[in-house]
Amino acid sequence: MNTLANYSFAGRRAVVRVDFNVPLDADLRITDDTRIRAATPTIQKILGDGGSVVLLSHLGRPKGGYEKKFTLQALVLRLQQEYGREVLWGGDVLSDEATRLSQALQPGQVLLLDNLRFHKEEEAGDEAFAKQLARLGDVYVNDAFGAAHRRHASTAVMAHDFAPQDRLAGLLMQAELDNAQKVLDNPQRPFTAIMGGAKISDKILLIERLLDKVDNLLIGGGMAYTFAVAEDGSVGKSLLEADRVELAKQLIKKAKEKGVNLVLPADSLTADRFANDADVDVASNMNIPADRMGLDLGPAAREQFAALIRTSKTILWNGPMGVFEMSNFSLGTEYVARAIAEATAAGAYSLIGGGDSAAAVQQLGYADRVSYISTGGGALLEFMEGKELPGVAALG
Ligand code: AMP
Repeated sequence: MNTLANYSFAGRRAVVRVDFNVPLDADLRITDDTRIRAATPTIQKILGDGGSVVLLSHLGRPKGGYEKKFTLQALVLRLQQEYGREVLWGGDVLSDEATRLSQALQPGQVLLLDNLRFHKEEEAGDEAFAKQLARLGDVYVNDAFGAAHRRHASTAVMAHDFAPQDRLAGLLMQAELDNAQKVLDNPQRPFTAIMGGAKISDKILLIERLLDKVDNLLIGGGMAYTFAVAEDGSVGKSLLEADRVELAKQLIKKAKEKGVNLVLPADSLTADRFANDADVDVASNMNIPADRMGLDLGPAAREQFAALIRTSKTILWNGPMGVFEMSNFSLGTEYVARAIAEATAAGAYSLIGGGDSAAAVQQLGYADRVSYISTGGGALLEFMEGKELPGVAALG
């Protein structure tokens, strides 16, 4: 894979696929600019070399034509601030204006084009559409790790319209892959993975693969209740994937065979309904009353998880420990985030993956106290499962 390290962009126009899929509020104001900031080192490297930049991204899930609430024009002012220079707006990626401005770009200039997904051809990976995108520059840089698991026109297909030496991984892409690889190859021990979130079904492959690698596997969040049922527990109205109970049994068995310490929460905070102001109580995870649901780690589980995390040397976290969007059920997630920060301060390497766990670490103010926060949810999971990412494979 070619990287930016030994490449000079002097006098060249770089088409840079970024992941500027940022959340916007109803007034089209950016509510979290992490993804914008994450791509800045790549953009600054190109501009610093004396190159120019054409920015391509998707935003949200438009239906295949222009929609005001998904236009990247909302990002122009923020990007001008970020790069300390004017950002030209070229409108639709296939417009005459986009072609004209891209051809006239001078060293140090930045051009932003509109949402790639206003064209259905983007997600279809259409080759003719990819060729049109490739005409916008002389060199292709992919810095959109968050979209690297998709075989879309801009994330994978268009790379082939450039000479092999002119298809490059951006600095963010490279950092993401290096950090994920670091956890998979020769992790320092004990290696603890913490899996949470709503469903096992999204994370089966990763859990299976991790059983070959980790010393401790802590299961929290909604998925813990399917594991509790697999161990003959009763979970009341908690989230349960009944069709995954067998699978959970197999995973528990496999963990035993491999000597992995698979840990289920000792207890839960239970609620009489799915609401922040619900009546709260504590129950064993194996014995949740029939009319209640588990929405967070209980006090014993918080200590149990935090203790194992604090003594770990490598930590991977994906998925919240409870319904952390509701303040009364965010304590489990908070304890885990704090324990990871403490372990990191004591020398552990910690990788935070997935949208929700990354958001939790940011919100709780621990962003500077963990080793790396991935910008990729699905892409990171697929990479860690051992799948080839089309966006990475296309870089050769
Ligand atoms: P995921 O996208 O699979 O990582 O799941 C994240 C979601 O799981 C968050 O929105 C949480 O609110 C939700 N979640 C975590 N724990 C629970 C739980 N015990 N019951 C229901 N939802 C949960």
